[in-house]
Amino acid sequence: MNTMIRTLPCPCDNEKNYSECCSAYLDEGKFAPSAETLMRSRYTAYVLQRNDYLMKTWHPETRPINLNLITDQSKWLGLTVKRSEQTAPDQAIVEFIARYKVNGKAQRLHEISRFKCIDKQWYYLDGHIL
Ligand SMILES: [Zn+2]
Repeated sequence: MNTMIRTLPCPCDNEKNYSECCSAYLDEGKFAPSAETLMRSRYTAYVLQRNDYLMKTWHPETRPINLNLITDQSKWLGLTVKRSEQTAPDQAIVEFIARYKVNGKAQRLHEISRFKCIDKQWYYLDGHIL
């Protein structure tokens, strides 16, 4: 891990440095304590192109066979979590807007993601784009 990033604000917009925020999940192997935290850490993993973390936190039923972010040309600009709600003891939804740029054009991804908890660990299940 490049040492520069540790002292930078975390990409997930949580007003903390990366080392005090998503690094615990991406680098130290801690479990995200809530669906929202997991969602934020997965956004950070997209920014940092951490395929390993995205695969690890994807629900086994919906996980893609492989994920190649290196060829992904989008540049992530920021995240806003609009709503986060636990809908059952092992289920939650998080609504967010992620801003990104592709080929110089700004875009917005507005999505409601579903998360499921298995053995106290949250996983991304799927997403509904609004
Ligand atoms: Zn973070």
